[in-house]
Amino acid sequence: MRPIEEKINSLREALHEHNHRYYIEDKPIISDYEFDHLLKELQKLEAEHPEFGDINSPTQRVGGGVTKNFKTIPHRFPMYSLSNTYSKEELELWEERIKKVLGEEAEISYTCELKFDGVSISLTYENGQLIQALTRGDGTQGDDITTNVKTINTIPLKLQGDYPPFFEIRGEIILPLEGFYKMNAERESLGEPLYMNPRNTASGSLKLQDSSLVAKRPLQCFLYALAGEKLPVSSQFEALEKARSMGFKVPESAKLVHSIDAVFQYIQYWDDQRKSLPYEIDGIVVKVNSFNQQQELGFTAKAPRWAMAYKYQTEQVSTVLRDVQYQVGRTGAITPVAHLEPVIISGTTVKRASLHNADQIEKLNLRLGDMVFVEKGGEIIPKIVGVDPSKRGVIDNKVDFITHCPECGSLLERESGEAQHYCKNETGCPPQRIGKIQHFIGRKAMDIEGLGGETVVLLFQQGLLNSVADLYRLEKEQILPLERMAEKSVSNLIDGIEKSKEKPFSKVLFGLGIRFVGETVAKKLCKQFKSIQALQQASLEELIQTEDIGERIAESVVNYLNNPQNIELINQLLSFGLNFVEETIERNSHEAFEGKRFVVSGVFQNYSREDLKKEIEMLGGSVVSSVSAKTDFIVAGEGMGPSKKKKAESLKIPILNEEAFNSLKK
Ligand code: AMP
Ligand code: ZN
Repeated sequence: MRPIEEKINSLREALHEHNHRYYIEDKPIISDYEFDHLLKELQKLEAEHPEFGDINSPTQRVGGGVTKNFKTIPHRFPMYSLSNTYSKEELELWEERIKKVLGEEAEISYTCELKFDGVSISLTYENGQLIQALTRGDGTQGDDITTNVKTINTIPLKLQGDYPPFFEIRGEIILPLEGFYKMNAERESLGEPLYMNPRNTASGSLKLQDSSLVAKRPLQCFLYALAGEKLPVSSQFEALEKARSMGFKVPESAKLVHSIDAVFQYIQYWDDQRKSLPYEIDGIVVKVNSFNQQQELGFTAKAPRWAMAYKYQTEQVSTVLRDVQYQVGRTGAITPVAHLEPVIISGTTVKRASLHNADQIEKLNLRLGDMVFVEKGGEIIPKIVGVDPSKRGVIDNKVDFITHCPECGSLLERESGEAQHYCKNETGCPPQRIGKIQHFIGRKAMDIEGLGGETVVLLFQQGLLNSVADLYRLEKEQILPLERMAEKSVSNLIDGIEKSKEKPFSKVLFGLGIRFVGETVAKKLCKQFKSIQALQQASLEELIQTEDIGERIAESVVNYLNNPQNIELINQLLSFGLNFVEETIERNSHEAFEGKRFVVSGVFQNYSREDLKKEIEMLGGSVVSSVSAKTDFIVAGEGMGPSKKKKAESLKIPILNEEAFNSLKK
């Protein structure tokens, strides 16, 4: 073997190993920085030596492959669905049916598992290499999404230990709640309509054509079943342990029990505990443990007789649909909102529910006056899950989605592939104009102290604020006569606006509210182009070559910057002295900080939290928001959160006070 090939192979092996330690065991032994360094080295060598290519190289994780049409492929072993129960009595009846087949005296053990609410997947491995990933489809054939699946870090591309030469493994691809909320927060700051729930978002992510976009979605995969001939195990529980030893992520929550009573204890335990899981489950799956017994029991047309899903009830109430109204967002996205006869769900009164989009209304076939079923889960806004058709009157008052903007009367548009309707009258539609100003002053953008969203509405209605540029023209005398405006608050407001002129370029750029330009993209653009002039001159191609900027974002930036009204706005903001040039901060790497992850918590004497974070980044560290095994240091000020503290202590992560932090810099 040539030395270069050896080098490539050893890098691949090391990266597979580190990936496993990080994502499966949650016990990394090198820093992110070192990991990235090894990966870059491998990427470079692979680019220089395409003759040593490997379709399962760790470099596949970043994606890049594009699938235009997903091929449909038959499953070697059908992917069944599961029968459902909702009570202990039904579970006991199930056991009775089983015993009719296996004999009254049969000893039956059960594996209890969580029922993950995601997308089921079947993975095929040959000689320890992932060769195919299929969706469930209709159970007999599914779509080939291999390229996208390879980007999911919890799915091994190469197995460890002993493995059968050829087998399939099934599991569920999920989007954990933290990732889901993060994606929605990003959508919100972009003024885009929100994703409905983690399951749909996971399923949509897997069907993206560009795998490098899939790589950015924080998807995970839990495995729960082996399929194949001559498997080296004889029970479900052993199969789980075997899968774990091969390097798969198998949840520790699975439990082997020996009676239906014990199954029911498991169910009760998780009914309570599921609320603190970092992902959503919709029930428990109970499986007869012994493969011999499973074989004896067999399958119905749709589901195995040896398994049963116990589904948790979510509280559902029925109430009357009074009206449907339409909200217009900052970007013109239209969201239908159901107005309901007030009703109490889990202790809170619910009057409204989101209907998401036109398809959702169509699917429910809604009519005004319908009795609808409403559900509320976790922090998510209540949703309508169904209609009671038996309570429907004779009058046909079907809810038809509006054709024109309720605020400005423009004809609504819906682009192909988009779920949402849009009002495109960006500059004339009042909620869009107000929304743009509110976005500009928001905490993540210009963060103008003394000015809130309500005041923006008031000033807009008074004709004092037609665009963000007008903020810098406001005078005390104009505002004082308005209702609820005291001398002191007006001074604060004017001071706040004045101070905002010091905000960095990236905040200003983000504040402009260009479609698809979120905080991160704004930062990248500023770093790359350094000034608004350079950005205005950049071509579409140049923009696309910037890290993390795709065609969709690039087009949106070019469109925005070429629009005469926007050019005028930017010129005005320039004349008021806002920052349109990137200040370069010297990065002054420090050994103790380089590649390390910090969590900052509490209040400090000599630093604002923002300054402290800046300093850490300047010294080469990175700041993350939550404590995990991957955190290197916690910098704690006054009043650090008790749960953070507990977690840090249990993970033995060093906690630095301000003084200790300062000496780390020495
Ligand atoms: P259903 O879609 O309600 O028929 O439920 C069957 C689906 O539950 C399967 O296709 C899997 O995608 C999913 N599932 C989630 N967790 C498990 C588990 N631990 N064992 C088996 N199936 C599971
Ligand atoms: Zn409009």
